[in-house]
Amino acid sequence: MSSRQQQQNSSQQSKTATQSYQKPYNQASTPQGPPPPYPSPGGGSVKQFKTEVVEQKPAPQPQTHPFTLTQQQLQMLNYFQQNINNLTPAQENMRLQLQHQHRLMQQHQQQLRHQRQAQPPRQGSTPPAYNGNNFQGDPPTLNPPKNLSPPSNGDKLVQPTPNVIPSCARDITMPVSGQNSADMDVSEEELKDFLSQKDLATTLAENLLKHFGSDDIDIKEEQEQSDSSKPEMDTKRRIKSPPHDSILTIKSEPPWEVDSLHSVEKRPEIEYTIDMDAKTILRLCKGEGIKGEISNSLISDRAPPPSPPDPPAIKLNHQQLLPPTPSVYLDNKKHAFSPQLQEFCLKHPIAVVRGLASALKLDLGLFSTKTLVEANPDHSVEVRTQIQQPSDENWDPQSGKKVWACISHRSHTTIARYAQYQASSFKESLKEERDKATSGLSDSDSKDSVNFPKRRRLCNIPPLANTKGCNQPKMLKFGTNVDLSDEKKWKAQLQELMKLPAFARVVSAGNMLSHVGHVILGMNTVQLYMKVPGSRTPGHQENNNFCSININIGPGDCEWFAVPDAYWGAICALCEKNQINYLHGSWWPVLEDLYNANIPVYRFLQRPGDLVWVNAGCVHWVQAVGWCNNIAWNVGPLTARQYQLAIERYEWNKLQSFKSIVPMLHLSWNLSRNIKVSDPKLFQLIKNCLMRTLRQCSMILEFVKHKGVEVKFHGRGKNEASHYCGQCEIEVFNILFIREQEKRHVVHCMDCARKQSPNLEGFVCLEEYKMEELTEVYDNFTLYPTVSATAEQYRLM
Ligand SMILES: [Zn+2]
Repeated sequence: MSSRQQQQNSSQQSKTATQSYQKPYNQASTPQGPPPPYPSPGGGSVKQFKTEVVEQKPAPQPQTHPFTLTQQQLQMLNYFQQNINNLTPAQENMRLQLQHQHRLMQQHQQQLRHQRQAQPPRQGSTPPAYNGNNFQGDPPTLNPPKNLSPPSNGDKLVQPTPNVIPSCARDITMPVSGQNSADMDVSEEELKDFLSQKDLATTLAENLLKHFGSDDIDIKEEQEQSDSSKPEMDTKRRIKSPPHDSILTIKSEPPWEVDSLHSVEKRPEIEYTIDMDAKTILRLCKGEGIKGEISNSLISDRAPPPSPPDPPAIKLNHQQLLPPTPSVYLDNKKHAFSPQLQEFCLKHPIAVVRGLASALKLDLGLFSTKTLVEANPDHSVEVRTQIQQPSDENWDPQSGKKVWACISHRSHTTIARYAQYQASSFKESLKEERDKATSGLSDSDSKDSVNFPKRRRLCNIPPLANTKGCNQPKMLKFGTNVDLSDEKKWKAQLQELMKLPAFARVVSAGNMLSHVGHVILGMNTVQLYMKVPGSRTPGHQENNNFCSININIGPGDCEWFAVPDAYWGAICALCEKNQINYLHGSWWPVLEDLYNANIPVYRFLQRPGDLVWVNAGCVHWVQAVGWCNNIAWNVGPLTARQYQLAIERYEWNKLQSFKSIVPMLHLSWNLSRNIKVSDPKLFQLIKNCLMRTLRQCSMILEFVKHKGVEVKFHGRGKNEASHYCGQCEIEVFNILFIREQEKRHVVHCMDCARKQSPNLEGFVCLEEYKMEELTEVYDNFTLYPTVSATAEQYRLM
């Protein structure tokens, strides 16, 4: 939701508010983008997972009617609303509870009024605007860190560095704040609790049991982690003692605010809020579906379609355009498991965790080309044939100009055959080196044999400017998207990755993608990349703005370029200017264009054993400097920011006819079944999605029945993947329209079904969940109070 919509919602709400103290949840918040460095989501105080079992004693609330607030409660609510910016999490929880109650009271009163009035008064409200730019706003505060520690010489993995790192890109040593940030960490108790839930999606439970239940390493490490997170005591402890006296302090920022989708859905007569119970929602939308005009928007029925955000307005200076990359060096396992590491990652658009593999004693050799060939020589590899480009540039061989468009041809091969190519490419390069050395052309910088020799790059610039005979650009093959999801084929490899800290693991309870309940190849499973120098991954944001984890196996380096998510709209505009579609096209930004457009770019080398954390929405592009393999997958931290960015992209994808690989509707319903949410913002966002889908399902059923089509209950099979429309590729949740096409049963969304057959003739309508089940899940999904909240509630009372 945009800041504009935010404001409009606020004004709408205050228009309808009958009491002066009734303010919307977020009126005081500014929906500003988290600039680098990001303020920590929720200020570190909002816990997504409860870490202890809580007695849910209700606050003493003497009342005559379930909706009625006592005078004391009204006063307290009033006090909280006035001090909305300075509330502790406990007070915020309390405020939300009171507000919820107050809304119920108001709704009750409103319903009474409605009953009295035959025609409800029309409210001439403007529909909320949405332009998808929630997280734009404040310009980045790109202050260079005060303490830059030079790369450690003791780092075994350090290689002679090609001349590609900006001088400012140095590792910084990360101090450990005393803030307890175990938000996403799941205690043993919690897991037991979590796994004991009977109605948990079966696949998920099985997965988790497989990964957690039988593996005592995890449990131990979780404990270790909680041990190391004693609040207040460890403020002075640092992950690594910096060689200098000064310590970089990570500024504590005001809690980062997310717009709430807890908006009111404005219709001329009906106002939907997430405070309503399912019954009320279904009652209010009765009759609305008959015409079949059913919006599939998760934001609003009447909002204009989402659009890319304008970039932050502030002009950046030269230094700010080349910000130092947030990096942390890990010395040992304890560092890797400290909650501060996750906190650090979540705070920045992108982060490099150096020395992770050696700190965890990860056996990277399991992912070396040699081992891969031994394990599964015939396994499929997707190949991208690309033009060998000089370092960070992208030339069009035809025009001899720098361009954005990336050319690559797709084909397939096997691991064994790609391995042969990779090895021969390396040998060839060594031979060239030797030949040139004997002819006296060698330079002393090119001894780093696993990385691309520096002067090779020089003689490559630009392809067309070379002498005759070089007109044919040199091509290279990039082995990409190698699927390592098969647990039988890749057992040793996948087991090794269980050594990672929970927030970076492929499967964990704190990862939204583990709650999808089925495989999303390359997202909640591991993919491998096999590279020769120059192999390029063009610019992109991850699917549905999820975070990603990437580990370089080596032996060579990779070079990364990254832009904070607040600037994605600006990059999207540059793509369009270059006649390339941002989502569907393949592009490599011309760096000068970015600087001229006031877009900051992180640039750094990822050495073997380094983990790169790509935060939600960060735009990035990568090239191999040397010969190397990488492994990567996505994660979805259970934060309001991650969820909201995912939903926003889900909506924009619909508009761009780009498939959302993450089925956000299915995922949201699973999350509401599987997790207890105590972060009010995350709760509001998920609940809003449930509210809108519940309403949409009810309206679709109404339309189908109105057309006289029978709805057959189908249920959901074990491991059954989410459904997508065979025509338009949007996710189809719960109600499927099936038609046989070329002897195959194809799922359609209602819109596409109606386009083919206005009265749905020839379609079978299947239902996956009973409405009663959905309404029960909806009503049971409530904001989970935090431990401290209970204590403070009593203190306050
Ligand atoms: Zn469709």
